[in-house]
Amino acid sequence: MKIVSGMRPTGRLHLGHLIGTLYNWRRLQETGECFFFVADWHALTTDYDRMQGVGTSIIEMVIDWIAAGIDPARATIFLQSGVREHAELHLLLSMITPIAWLERVPTYKETQQQLGDRDLSTYGFLGYPVLQAADILMYGATGVPVGADQVPHVELTREIGRRFNRVFGDTFPEPQALLTGTSRVPGLDGRKMSKSYNNAVFLADTAEEVRAKLSRMMTDPRRARRHDPGDPDDCPAYQLHRVYCTPEELTSTAEGCRTARIGCLECKQVMIARAEQELAPIREHRAALAARPDDVHDVIAAGTRRARTVAEATMAAVRARVGVGGNV
Ligand code: SF4
Repeated sequence: MKIVSGMRPTGRLHLGHLIGTLYNWRRLQETGECFFFVADWHALTTDYDRMQGVGTSIIEMVIDWIAAGIDPARATIFLQSGVREHAELHLLLSMITPIAWLERVPTYKETQQQLGDRDLSTYGFLGYPVLQAADILMYGATGVPVGADQVPHVELTREIGRRFNRVFGDTFPEPQALLTGTSRVPGLDGRKMSKSYNNAVFLADTAEEVRAKLSRMMTDPRRARRHDPGDPDDCPAYQLHRVYCTPEELTSTAEGCRTARIGCLECKQVMIARAEQELAPIREHRAALAARPDDVHDVIAAGTRRARTVAEATMAAVRARVGVGGNV
């Protein structure tokens, strides 16, 4: 299976990215041919006037990818803007994409409402799902790992690819959405974990910081007093238990919660210890990588060259089909 997935260059990643995306990428690279890219052009679609420091953010993010186990020897890690063919395919696909298809993408209106402080009245923002389609179709992806909210984007990519194939001849396979199990990881305050909510546990955090943050993570409000029973299903912290604890630990802590046999701090210690087992080697690896940013840059450069080779071949076929863009 060919897999394509990208992430905007947000800088240092947190547990939400690790659990929601990187564990899945790590699994996929075992069996699939994976292309993981830094979506810096996508960042422009909502933040064109806030791109200061993006170079540092790119390196920081890729450090976290590799530290979390994304292996440049197995997966192609590349920079979207380093493969200019994405822009060309975006342009060609935009010629056959009806505006109505873009206006009905659910996240179009939702994001405009959520990010009221940004200028989202642009052609680039409306068209970003077409850029996404170009990213995916370029590599002949057959699988795209996404959260449930991104499924309409993959469906749109399939529609655009189908239309291209119908108009110009069979060129692109149809990608399937590969639903990730966990797309919403709670932050310390119970809302979705996000840097902008200031509720995140970062992969770069020290063991002490992780412990301190998770110790004060929100729990079931029913457990206001030590002897009040609670329900793990209503506890944001327990969602991390589900990721990191063994079945026996889950059974024991859930029973301890429901009967008030244990307090929240005692309960969380079990999860914190397990999470730390996972985070400690990542932290160590990321510190080693952060000391050698030039090596990380080289990884991105090599991956971008590899991606470009595939993209050049795709575009040669696409130009021949469309009849525009060949050598003069
Ligand atoms: S005891 Fe555990 S599961 Fe129950 S509310 Fe506290 S932290 Fe959450």
